[in-house]
Amino acid sequence: MTNRPVLLLLLVSSFATAQTSPTPANPVSARALAIHNSAIVVDTHADTPQRFLDEGFDIGSTDPNDIGHISLDKAQRGNLGAEFFSIWVEPGTNQGHFAQHTFDLIDSVYEQAARHPGRMRMAFSVADIERAHREHKLAALMGIEGGHSIENDVHLLRDYYRLGVRYMTLSWSNTNEWADSSGDIDDPKVQHHNGLTDFGKQVVLEMNQLGMMVDISHVADKTFWDAIATTKAPVIASHSSARALVNAPRNMTDDMLRAVGKNGGVVQVNFFNGFDDQAFWDAAKAQAKDKAAAIQKMLDDKKAAGQPAKYVDIDRLDREWTAKIPRPPLKVLIDHIDHVAKIAGIDHVGLGSDFDGVSGATPQGIDSAADLPKITQALLDRGYSAEDIKKILGGNLLRVFGEVERVSRELQGSSSK
Ligand SMILES: [Zn+2]
Repeated sequence: MTNRPVLLLLLVSSFATAQTSPTPANPVSARALAIHNSAIVVDTHADTPQRFLDEGFDIGSTDPNDIGHISLDKAQRGNLGAEFFSIWVEPGTNQGHFAQHTFDLIDSVYEQAARHPGRMRMAFSVADIERAHREHKLAALMGIEGGHSIENDVHLLRDYYRLGVRYMTLSWSNTNEWADSSGDIDDPKVQHHNGLTDFGKQVVLEMNQLGMMVDISHVADKTFWDAIATTKAPVIASHSSARALVNAPRNMTDDMLRAVGKNGGVVQVNFFNGFDDQAFWDAAKAQAKDKAAAIQKMLDDKKAAGQPAKYVDIDRLDREWTAKIPRPPLKVLIDHIDHVAKIAGIDHVGLGSDFDGVSGATPQGIDSAADLPKITQALLDRGYSAEDIKKILGGNLLRVFGEVERVSRELQGSSSK
């Protein structure tokens, strides 16, 4: 997406006002910052609720040694306007009580908002996000990551909507009883369904009716195509990158990217190095067996000692292994944004960081939400216009969310006749 006249203009203007050009000490120019700060920046995936619940982490923390990606200060410095907090129920350690853990995570987000009413508010709609922006508060939204949370019960799905959940990822890395996942699609021990079951299609239609965004990140390819054929509203990929650049089954093929473009939806690019950098993916794959064994041993030891297994413990180990692999430059993330913009279209790409869910494996320079302006700088460097950058930063997601709300109203209107 290079645009030579714009690049030339930038070069000229940076000569004229040298202090506004990015330097190593100040990697974001005044122009990039102005564009970034004029946008409603929306990120569609952060796993911070695990920290709220397991660590008792307070989003108001100003601890300079905290290695987390999200805090109110970091969000403010990065002009993050809206965050979709991920309600992710680890299926192994929560077997038998998925709904209970889902409710606990939802509660943890509300509790943070209640603790910081002057800086953060719960948000359930596009209008709420815009209101929070005007009030200079972080809009806190919620998305459920993994259809297993509804325990095969559409009543629970509706309850989650009523509690404010505004997207649901049809599956996480585990195939559930109605949707195949890319995470275990090659595992012969797992019972698969060839995509979505009839109940799975009903779930998608119920989400359309409710106004809950259908999220196709994580799903198996056939599940994706079934969801696209079933949905009456645009879909989102809340945190997915491109398979043409990194051959991970969790990434989206160009055909899938084009289909989301045609569907009017949006692909929110994941910041995880494993999905954005082939060398990182290969290195992670090479250590996967040893890492899994180390994690299993830790879980077994905990069980033997009668202690509960928490995600924070898994994450701690994960970080040790992840730190052995070199972090790629920011360029790899920008390459994915650029690729999705080219294949799906500039109206169908956004940001789905996976902050606090990737054990620190984000590109160099992206250490928290405070670094989001560097992405704007990098897009500007590639010749993207201010208008297009604002679409990527949040405009596209807000359009899709608004369209999902409109389709819901339409479906509810026609069903009450
Ligand atoms: Zn995920």
